[in-house]
Formats: sequence, C-alpha cells, structure tokens
Amino acid sequence: MISEIPLKCTNCLNSNNVRIHTMINTGSEPEMKAKVLDGSAFLWDCPHCGKSNLIDSPTVYIDPQEKLIVICSKEGLSVEIPEDGPYAGFSIRQADSIGALIELVKIFDAGLDDEVLNLCKQVTRMEMKADELNLRFVRLEGADNEIIFTYPKKGQMEMIAIGFNVYEDCKAIIDGHRR
Ligand SMILES: [Zn+2]
Repeated sequence: MISEIPLKCTNCLNSNNVRIHTMINTGSEPEMKAKVLDGSAFLWDCPHCGKSNLIDSPTVYIDPQEKLIVICSKEGLSVEIPEDGPYAGFSIRQADSIGALIELVKIFDAGLDDEVLNLCKQVTRMEMKADELNLRFVRLEGADNEIIFTYPKKGQMEMIAIGFNVYEDCKAIIDGHRR
C-alpha cells in the first residue's frame, strides 16, 4: 500500500510529495524484502538537492513466509490484529525505528527468537560493561553460527561476535520461564 505525503528534505528544507509504503506485504510484493533489508524501501531522494532522506512515518510490515508482522512507529502506534483469520499464528512485534524493524526481519530470517536475543544482548552488555549500548543483530556467521552484533562507537559502527552457546544458554533460561 502506497500513500503520497509531503515530506521536508533534511538538507535543503524543500517540501516534496513522496510516495511512501504505509504497508509492506512481502507475500504480494516479494521484491520488497530485499529493499527492506538494505533500507532502500525507506529512503527518498530529494529532487531539489539529491539528498537521500530517511522516511520514518509509520509502516506495517507483513511477512507471510516468516509469519511475522512488525508495526513500526515512533509513537508506539497500536494496531489490532485479529488472532483468527489470515494472520493466525503470526508473531506480532512493535519497532520504534526503521533500524529496529530491519533487525526484526533479520532475526526472523535467521530463525532466531527475538526474546532470547534480547537476553543475549543483556549478557553481552554486562560483559562489555556498557549498560546503554545499542546492540543490533546483523547475521549469523561461520560454521559455528557466531552471532554478529553491531553497535555505535565514536560515530562508527563496530562489530562484536558472540558464541552460539550464549544463545543456547539464554534460550534455556527463557524456555524455563515460559514453561
Ligand atoms: Zn533537498
């Protein structure tokens, strides 16, 4: 679903009518998945100055293959999704930024559990002695499925790899709580 809304360029401050995706369904638009993952689905180029701007208006992302729905909104917009019907059994997640949305898509693609991964992040933050560090999952890597996180440091993105055993330990803890 596409809407046209006026957005202001962050560089030249000109207002432009921009076509934005208010809803992305990778079932009916499979080509959108790659554009979500590389972020290009959420960029618009200013016709006046050429600046590439981020679109951060609310978006609903539906991925029937991964049975995932992400409601992306800075304001914590809530959307009622009926538990029966076409979206029965879907995981429904909230994301407060495009970055958080993209991360959720990567997590589900990798077959990981976002709740377990959140605990992995807490453990990693404790080990790094950095409580506020904004870790983002990027991918699994290598034969041992090392978990790669990125985090910002002095304006750059750094990477850290953690062993899959950390994920397994965290999963055991979370599964224990779920039981
Ligand atoms: Zn511009």
